[in-house]
Amino acid sequence: LPDHVFEVNAAPTPDGGAVAVLHDVTGIERAEIMRRDFVANVSHELRTPLTSISGYVETLLDTTPDLPPHVQEFLGIILKNANRMNRLTEDLLALANVESGEYQLHRQPIAASALLEDTIEGLAGMLVDSGFLLKQRETTNTKVLVDIDAITQVFGNLIENAMKYGRTGQSVTVGARDCDGCVEFYVQDYGPGIAQEHQARIFERFYRVDKARSRESGGTGLGLAIARHIVLAHEGTIHVESELGSGATFIVRLPAVA
Ligand code: ADP
Repeated sequence: LPDHVFEVNAAPTPDGGAVAVLHDVTGIERAEIMRRDFVANVSHELRTPLTSISGYVETLLDTTPDLPPHVQEFLGIILKNANRMNRLTEDLLALANVESGEYQLHRQPIAASALLEDTIEGLAGMLVDSGFLLKQRETTNTKVLVDIDAITQVFGNLIENAMKYGRTGQSVTVGARDCDGCVEFYVQDYGPGIAQEHQARIFERFYRVDKARSRESGGTGLGLAIARHIVLAHEGTIHVESELGSGATFIVRLPAVA
């Protein structure tokens, strides 16, 4: 744990001098580290028993012919919930990892267009299964310096959300364009959109506009919190533009390689 952590706020004064205010945030920072470690440890410990539960239930379902219908139904419910807990522990571990100071990015230059292609390739199967049409609008060959796995995960998450909350049979549009010293990636859906008051908050962990809906579709409420951390670690920004009833556009800006 750190010995001392200070936050500094500095501002110029009218007489040409400056004021600096130091806040001792050691206690807050230590509590935060302990919270993160605790969550990571619990998630890690839950992994093995959960894998065991889903493994045995799957085997039972696969290898036992003529199970009474109610047994089959109950085993199905157990499996669904074990899988849900699995996803939750995986997301909690991923979040603890990106929140920690030890989060390591392996960055390399890649053209924005190639980065989008990589993402789409990885999602192809899921897109076909879900009946969604993924359209790619404009793209750019400007390079960005990114951890390819991490950023394709972010884009993948945004596209999955677009499908999850958009309407089936509709399309999702993705694209990349140059901005001032940066590249702007976007994922646009034509679903119900997000009201103004929720737009900043959906990037907080566990914040969901409609808890029941998110749960039903297998959501953990952590995807956008993880995405935000990864984008910030790249000195980028992420936000959403939306009007209730007319879809949502998630925008990620990453610094361009000069
Ligand atoms: P979840 O696992 O619940 O999808 P996320 O962190 O990915 O968690 O998203 C947080 C919440 O933001 C969601 O529960 C949903 O209410 C809202 N949300 C995210 N993406 C969209 C979208 N494309 N359209 C409408 N609402 C969305």
